[in-house]
Amino acid sequence: MTAFERIKSALGPKGWSEDAGELAALTADWRGRYRGNTPLLVKPATTEEVSSVVSICHEAGIAITPQGGNTGLVGGGTPQGEILLSLRRMNRVREIDAANDSLTVEAGCVLETIQETAADAGRLFPLSLGSQGSATIGGLISTNAGGVHVLRYGMMRELVLGLEAVLPDGRVWNGLRGLRKDNTGYDLKQLLIGGEGTLGVITAATLKLFPRPGEISVAFTAIEDPQKAVDLLGHMKAATGGALSALELVPRNALELVVEHIPGARDPFAEPHPWYALLEVGAARRGEGREMMEASLADAFEAGLIRDAVIAENEQQSRDFWNLREPIAEAEKAHGRAAKHDVSIPVSQMPAFMAEATAEAEAMMPDAMIIAFGHVGDGNVHFNVSRREPGAGQDFADSTAPVTAMIYEKVAKYAGSISAEHGIGVLKRNELADKRPLDVELMRAIKTAIDPKGIMNPRVLFAN
Ligand code: ZN
Repeated sequence: MTAFERIKSALGPKGWSEDAGELAALTADWRGRYRGNTPLLVKPATTEEVSSVVSICHEAGIAITPQGGNTGLVGGGTPQGEILLSLRRMNRVREIDAANDSLTVEAGCVLETIQETAADAGRLFPLSLGSQGSATIGGLISTNAGGVHVLRYGMMRELVLGLEAVLPDGRVWNGLRGLRKDNTGYDLKQLLIGGEGTLGVITAATLKLFPRPGEISVAFTAIEDPQKAVDLLGHMKAATGGALSALELVPRNALELVVEHIPGARDPFAEPHPWYALLEVGAARRGEGREMMEASLADAFEAGLIRDAVIAENEQQSRDFWNLREPIAEAEKAHGRAAKHDVSIPVSQMPAFMAEATAEAEAMMPDAMIIAFGHVGDGNVHFNVSRREPGAGQDFADSTAPVTAMIYEKVAKYAGSISAEHGIGVLKRNELADKRPLDVELMRAIKTAIDPKGIMNPRVLFAN
């Protein structure tokens, strides 16, 4: 039997596909930037089946691209001739341990399902991002996802207690420990978290749960400029005693795109403002959230930090405010292609970075529209370059290479990162090699030790 025949017989008829339609949907990425191909889609239903597939591939030297919900933005889940290993059928909740504040799920569980499962147990799983209706936990862990609540709860790296993974030789590594203290040498799970599938296939995870806030209050504020957002951040952190769970920056042009392209979205203010900040506070007890928000914003107004503010009166309004922030990427996509720069800068330096990078980008490309938005509360801005006129194509996005180089130079100047939360994938592997050569040398040594045949997601993280 050939290796492919052995894989098919190990998985049974439900566990693989060569159907052109099914393959086409999974070999292109969400943004439509990457198109790939695969000779075989495998859909294992258990860790044992993943182990069988990987063992056979290891023996035969066949490369594998693991994939979750296919919502990545850097091409890390798009196969180029590798076997495509989809974890979507592995979507069981294995165990919820409320007293231990932990939840054990399989890799293919969708984030929204995990949030709901935690809520049903009276707990919070705080990771929250635009693609949560389709992103799976295995992919979110492999890419160390961030999202809108990092300010208070941290990135995926801080939300995982334990992992189960299939190693590149097919062995199962069981690190599913629900421990908050485990001081036993190298923290091996952290190599897989953010490892982008290069060191093995994550099959299950034990996640950290938190108390559910008694009341969440959301406000949409109008502000002068990014410096005011940073000042507002400091004020709100102190005024809410650490209960601030999100501060998202929205520029006027992004708000206009959302109002134009997203159903139900409308500008909550009568007058236009240059910038906006969405704030979310999670108070411990019911009845405290709105009050805390109102008092903090009254002080902020007094201090000249905000121009105006609206506080959500109910859950529907909270969703409406979030609906001005979450779909920015979608609205931007409807407007045209953009070159995306997911960068982080120390919060204190963010306003200077944004002012300099915007001025230089506009000087380099007079028809450019800078859409700089996002998680300013944790120092992460999505600094995207699109064109003022709608309908920019991929050729436009590709023509921005000099602007991208300028932005990454600025990031280096301000001691930031060229990838805050989207990862490296194939999109940024050359920049990573260029910007952090010693890091890449050490990562390569680890990669070679754990995956000597180089079969696990071979094209990502490392430049050729
Ligand atoms: Zn983001």
